[in-house]
Amino acid sequence: MSDLIAQNLAAIRNRIAQACEKAGRAEADVSLVAVSKFHPIESVEAALKAGQRLFGENRVQEAASKFPELRKTFPDLRLHIIGGLQTNKAAEACQIADVIESLDRPSLCDAIEKGAQKAGRLPELLVQVNTGGEPQKSGVPREEADAFIAASLEKFGQKIRGLMCIPPEDEDPAPHFRLLRQMSQRHGLPVLSMGMSADFETAIAENATLVRVGTAIFGSRPTPQS
Ligand SMILES: *Cc1c(COP(=O)(O)O)cnc(C)c1O
Repeated sequence: MSDLIAQNLAAIRNRIAQACEKAGRAEADVSLVAVSKFHPIESVEAALKAGQRLFGENRVQEAASKFPELRKTFPDLRLHIIGGLQTNKAAEACQIADVIESLDRPSLCDAIEKGAQKAGRLPELLVQVNTGGEPQKSGVPREEADAFIAASLEKFGQKIRGLMCIPPEDEDPAPHFRLLRQMSQRHGLPVLSMGMSADFETAIAENATLVRVGTAIFGSRPTPQS
């Protein structure tokens, strides 16, 4: 399993390099977030041994059960919380995450502000935009996004680093990525988290700076235990 993860990582890094070259972008401008949700700690360790340091988890509880321990051995490990975040998990998210990619509503801004005080640290933040207007998905609706980003910048200043989106599965992702890129330009935000296993090359062509890849590194996800 460990060999397979190392091979998959090498293959993804290669494809990222090629996509950067094709887009005329520097490889150093795109970071790979290895999405390890539902996968056991051994899989994360295999990726760490293969040189990967940046990880994404979408549930705070699960992230808390894996990563604080791993940080002892790998102090340069970085963790992103990438899933819809409940307000009652905000304090713990502030404690364990380097970046929260899913800021999407005023109540969560308030909870993160309070949680950061409690935790004594405030992670960097990305605003998640629901570019496809899907009711079941987290993210601020795109009609409200500009106002929400402006308000978040007021509240958190430089801690707001950029934007994140997950396009609808059954649509061409490129227009969604482009919309997010334009939105980030309007607000002068440097970070664009977009692209997953199926579409990260398209995202790189549209200026993604973070690609979140799970299945193509760790294989298909086991059923979550909760
Ligand atoms: C699970 C997940 C990913 C990774 O998806 P894959 O298709 O497995 O690469 C990326 N982003 C978010 C927000 C996720 O929840």
